[in-house]
Amino acid sequence: MARDPVCNMEVREESALSLEREGTVYFFCSEGCREKFLRESKDSGGRKIYDLLILGGGPAGLTAAVYAATLRMEAFLITKDLGGQAIDSTQIENYMGFDFIAGTDLVKKFEDQLLRSHYIDHRIGEVREVVPEGGGFRVTLNEGETLRGRALILATGMLRRKLNVPGEEALQRQGVFYGNIQDVSFVEGADVAIVGGGNSALQIVETLNSVVGTIHLICNSTLRADPIVIERVEAFPNLRKHEGYEVLEIVGDKKVEGISIRSRDGGEVEYLAVGGVFISIGLQPNSALFEGLVDRNDRGEIRIAPDCSTSRPGIFAAGDLTDAYGKRIVIASGEGAKAALAAREYLLKQTAGKAAL
Ligand SMILES: Cc1cc2nc3c(=O)[nH]c(=O)nc-3n(C[C@H](O)[C@H](O)[C@H](O)COP(=O)(O)OP(=O)(O)OC[C@H]3O[C@@H](n4cnc5c(N)ncnc54)[C@H](O)[C@@H]3O)c2cc1C
Repeated sequence: MARDPVCNMEVREESALSLEREGTVYFFCSEGCREKFLRESKDSGGRKIYDLLILGGGPAGLTAAVYAATLRMEAFLITKDLGGQAIDSTQIENYMGFDFIAGTDLVKKFEDQLLRSHYIDHRIGEVREVVPEGGGFRVTLNEGETLRGRALILATGMLRRKLNVPGEEALQRQGVFYGNIQDVSFVEGADVAIVGGGNSALQIVETLNSVVGTIHLICNSTLRADPIVIERVEAFPNLRKHEGYEVLEIVGDKKVEGISIRSRDGGEVEYLAVGGVFISIGLQPNSALFEGLVDRNDRGEIRIAPDCSTSRPGIFAAGDLTDAYGKRIVIASGEGAKAALAAREYLLKQTAGKAAL
C-alpha cells in the first residue's frame, strides 16, 4: 500500500493512478488528486480560504460533499475515514434503491461518487481544533496542518460506548471487540458473548452464527432491535438469551476466557466461558471537540434547526452527531444534503451583504 501525497489516503499501488517525478513514483486515489498535485507543484502561492469545510466522512459528510460539488462550492472534506459507521453494517436493508447491500459496498459507491463523479478536495486526518477566525473558521488537524473556511458542516457522527468493567480495557482486541469485526477467525468454533440488544448487536449475532459455537446474547433490558431481525435471530438453535442481565467483569489473562454476568433483579453471579466478547451497547455523539462553539443538548448532540443551522452563524451540522430524530444512513445522508444547501444559501447572503455595503 502507498499513501496519496495529496489526501493521505491509503491506495493500492497495483490499481492506483501514478505519476513519476524526479525519480519518485507517486500514487493517487483519483484523477482529481493527481491533477491537484500537478497544479500545486506549479503554483505554490498562499493557501486560499475555502467556502466550506466539511468535518467527517460518514454518510452525512460524504453526501454534503457531493452536494457541495454539484452546487459548485469550493469545499474541503476532512475525515478520519471514508464511510463512518456505515462500513460496519454487514447488511443494510433500509437504504433506498437497494433491497439489500453490505455496508462496505454502499460506502464504495459513496466513495466513487465523491472521488470520481464529483471530485472535491479532501484529506484523511483527524480534526483537533476548530476556532472562529476573521468571520470564518480555522480547523487544525492532529498533524498540525490548518485549513480555513467561510462556513463549516460538522458531521463527526458517533463513537462506541464502553461497558467500563474490569478486564475490558486490558483485553481489547484480545477477544474484546466493539461492533462487527471483518475477520472472524479469532473466534472461529468458540463460544462467544454479544452484549447489546439493538440492531447492531443482532447483526453481529447473524454474522457469527455459522462460525461460532454457543452465542450468549446479554442485554440489560429486553431486545429492542427491529422485530424482523429479532424473529430471524431467535430461530438460531445456538442462541442463549440473557435478557435483563448486566456484565460485571471480562475475565482472561492474555486473551478473553470468560465473562461474569448477574441478573439486574439481584440474582446469583453467573460465569460464562467464552473466547470472545462483542460489545454493541450504543454510541455517543462525537461532539466534545465542539464544546463552547455550538449548543449541545444533555446527550451531547448538537442542537440544529430544520435547515441544519446551529447556534453559531456559519456552522451547520448533520447526521448522528445532531439532535435530528432517527439514526439511520438514509437520514444522515438527507441531513448532509440539507446542510450543504443551507450553507450555500448562508454564503450567498454573506456575499450579497458585502456587495450592498
Ligand atoms: C454496526 C452498525 C450497523 C448499522 N446498520 C444500519 C443499517 O442497517 N441501516 C441504517 O440505516 N443505519 C445503520 N446504522 C447506523 C448508520 O450507520 C448511522 O446512522 C450513519 O452512519 C450515521 O452517519 P454520520 O455520517 O452521521 O456519522 P458516522 O457514520 O458516525 O460518520 C462520522 C465520520 O466522522 C469521522 N470523524 C469523527 N471524528 C473526527 C475527527 N475528529 N476528525 C475527522 N473525522 C472525524 C469518522 O471517522 C466518520 O468518518 C448502523 C450502525 C452500526 C454501528
